[in-house]
Amino acid sequence: MDHQPKFFENLSGTGKAIGVLTSGGDAQGMNAAVRAVVRMGIYVKAKVYFVYEGYQGMVDGGDNIVEVSWESVSSILQVGGTVIGSARCKSFRTREGRLQAAFNLVQRGITNLCVIGGDGSLTGANLFREEWSGLLEELAQKGKIDEDAVKKYAYLNIVGMVGSIDNDFCGTDMTIGTDSALHRIIEVVDAIMTTAQSHQRTFVLEVMGRHCGYLALVSALACGADWVFIPEYPPEEGWEDSMCVKLSENRARKKRLNIIIVAEGAIDCHNKPITSEKVKDLVVQRLGFDTRVTILGHVQRGGTPSAFDRILASRMGVEAVLALLEATPATPACVVSLSGNQAVRLPLMECVQMTQEVQKAMDEGRFVEAVRLRGRSFENNLNTYKLLSHKKPDAELPKTNFNVAVLNVGAPAAGMNAAVRAAVRVGITEGHKMFAVIDGFEGFARGKIKEISWGDVGGWTGQGGSILGTKRTLPAKYLEKIADQMRTNNINALMVIGGFETCDRIKQSASGTKRRVFIIETMGGYCGYLANMGALAAGADAAYIFEEQFDIRELQANVEHLTEKMKTSIQRGLVLRNENCNENYTTDFIYQLYSEEGKGVFDCRKNVLGHMQQGGAPSPFDRNFGTKISAKAMQWISKKLKETYRKGKVFANTDDSVCLLGMRRRNLVFQPVAELKTETDFVHRIPKEQWWLKLRPLMKILAKYKTSYDVSDSGQLEHVAMHSPKEAETGAI
Ligand code: ADP
Repeated sequence: MDHQPKFFENLSGTGKAIGVLTSGGDAQGMNAAVRAVVRMGIYVKAKVYFVYEGYQGMVDGGDNIVEVSWESVSSILQVGGTVIGSARCKSFRTREGRLQAAFNLVQRGITNLCVIGGDGSLTGANLFREEWSGLLEELAQKGKIDEDAVKKYAYLNIVGMVGSIDNDFCGTDMTIGTDSALHRIIEVVDAIMTTAQSHQRTFVLEVMGRHCGYLALVSALACGADWVFIPEYPPEEGWEDSMCVKLSENRARKKRLNIIIVAEGAIDCHNKPITSEKVKDLVVQRLGFDTRVTILGHVQRGGTPSAFDRILASRMGVEAVLALLEATPATPACVVSLSGNQAVRLPLMECVQMTQEVQKAMDEGRFVEAVRLRGRSFENNLNTYKLLSHKKPDAELPKTNFNVAVLNVGAPAAGMNAAVRAAVRVGITEGHKMFAVIDGFEGFARGKIKEISWGDVGGWTGQGGSILGTKRTLPAKYLEKIADQMRTNNINALMVIGGFETCDRIKQSASGTKRRVFIIETMGGYCGYLANMGALAAGADAAYIFEEQFDIRELQANVEHLTEKMKTSIQRGLVLRNENCNENYTTDFIYQLYSEEGKGVFDCRKNVLGHMQQGGAPSPFDRNFGTKISAKAMQWISKKLKETYRKGKVFANTDDSVCLLGMRRRNLVFQPVAELKTETDFVHRIPKEQWWLKLRPLMKILAKYKTSYDVSDSGQLEHVAMHSPKEAETGAI
C-alpha cells in the first residue's frame, strides 16, 4: 500500500465522553476489551464511563454510570466474565426505557457508546442510535433537557464489539470468548479421552452455541471426533444407519474410543432437534456400546480468557475508540472485528441482518445457503472436517501413482501432529501413496521412511511435540543422501512441516503480589513474537525484543515508569524479554538493574520459561490451524503434481515448485521460497518484515507509555465480505 502512515496524534478525544457496557451473555475476554477502551479513551484525553449491568444500568442511571480512571481497569485482563456486569434488560426494549437511558447519558455528556455483546445487544444499540434525535426532542418537550443540550448532543456514535462464546455473528472470524470456550471444551475432551480409552467407551458430548454450530464443529476438528451434529449441516436421511456403521467399523479397527459431538441447536433435515440423549439411546439400542453423555453447560463460559481472546479483545477495544473518534454523523454504527490478522470495521446492521438471514435459511431448510452465509472460515472448517473424518472406501478413491512424503523439521511445536494427520489423510483422499519420514532430514538421509495409512494418524490432533520425530539438522550436509532416498522411494513431492523458531503461545500470569516486578524470558530465537504477544496478553509493562533495539535510556525510562507505577494502586510489574533480544542486556543484567534501581520501592523475580513453552497439549487454535493449513497445502501439492506431470515424470523446475504456505493479512498465500529468500534475515532466522510489530505501540499505550500509533492500517469501514472467486482460491483459515 502506498499511503502515508497516519498517526493518531491528530485524533483527539478532548471534550468527548465514552460510555462502555457489556450486555447479553458474558464471555471470557470482555474485560480485556473494557480495559482497552478505558485506557485508549483516557490516552486520547476523552472521559470514559463504565455503564454497569448492561442496558439496565443505562436505564437506571445513578451509580450505574460512573467516570473511571486508568487504575480502575488494572488487574482485570486475566479475569473471566465481565467485571462491569451484564444483564438482560426488558425496559430497554421499550421506547420509554430508551428515553430514560438517553436522559442519563445526556446528563453526563456521553455521546459515544461502546457496546460489547451479542447480536441482540447490538441490534438494541443500533435502534437507540436511530431514535436518538427523536428521544432528545421528546426529552426537551417534557422539559427534562434544554434546547442547547439537544443541539450539543445531537449525534450518538455507536461502535460494537461482539462478545459471545458462540461465534454466531456474521462478518467476524472470531468473537470475543470463542477461543476460551474452545479451550474449556478441549480440556474436557482431553480428560474424557484418557478415561474412555481404558474402558472402550462412546462419548456423546453436548456443547453450547445456541443456533450456531461453530463450537461443535471446531471442537470436532480439534479432537478428531467421529461424528458431529450441527444445525447448519443436518445429517442426510438415514444418518442413524451410517453413523452406527461408522462407529462399529471403528470398533473393528480396534479404536477404543468414539467421540460424538452434538451442538445444542443440532437438527435433522426436517428441522427436528437431535439431542445428545437421542444419540446415546440410538448407539446403545443398535450397537450395545457403553455410552455416556456429557453436557458441558456453563463450564464453557468459565475460567480465565485465553491469550488469543485477550489479544483479540485488546485490539478491538483500541480500534473501537479510534472508530468513535473518527465517526461523523454520516457514518453508520459499526462493529470492529478481526479478519485474518487484520482489524476491520463493518456496518453493524448489515452484519446483524446477515446473522438473522442464517437463521431464516435454516428454518426454511436452505442449509447450503446457511453454511455460505456463516462465512468462508466456517465453510472451510466444515469442508476440512468432512475431508478428514470419513475415509471413503478404497474402491471409491482415485489412484494417482504419486508418492508424497511428509516430514517435521526444527523444534517440536504444538500442532505439528495435527498438520501431519491432515496431510496424510488429504493425500490419501487425493489418491496418493503417503510416506512418513522419521527424525527430519537426518532420518531421511538414513532411510528412515515408511508408508503411512489413514488409521496410523488417528488421534494425533491432540498430541504435543512431534510424533514423527524432528531434528534441527539442516539438510545441506545430507543433500546427496536425501536425493538418493527420494529416488529409491520414488518420492514425487515432499511436505515439510516446521520452521525457523516456532512454539505455542505462552500463558503467563503474575498477580496477587505487592510491589514486585516479574522479569520473564521467552523463547523464539531472534523473533520477538512470543515476547510481544505474550506482553499484550498479560498486560505487561515492557517487552524487550530484537526487532526493536533498545538502549540504556529506554531501560532507565522503564525503571522510572515502574517506580512511578508502584506509587499508584497497581503495585505489580511485568517485563518480558525475548531470549536473543540483546547479547549484553541479558535477563540477568535486566534483573540486576531493576533490582538495584527498584531498591526500597519494589523487588524483582525472574523466570526463564524455557522448554515449558514447547510442551503440553496443543491449543485448539494450533490444532485447527495445523489441520487446515496442512490440508490446504496437500491439496495444492496434488494440483501441482497433476499440472507438472509429463511422460511419467514430475517436473519440479519452476519457482513455485518449492513454496511456503502462510497467512498474510487476511489470506493464505503460497509463496515461492526463492522469493522468500530476499525477505528473510538468515543470520537471525526471522522475516525482514514482521506484521505484528505494529502491535508494539498498543502494548505500550495500554501500559501507559507515550508512543505514536500508526492507524493507517486500522480498519476502514468495509462491507460484509462475501465470497469472491479470488478469495475462494487463496482461502481463509
Ligand atoms: P445477546 O446480546 O447476547 O444476543 P440478548 O439478545 O439477550 O443477548 O440481548 C441483550 C439485551 O439487549 C436485551 O436484554 C435487551 O436489553 C437488549 N436488546 C436486544 N434486542 C433488542 C432490540 N431489538 N431492541 C432493543 N433492545 C434490545
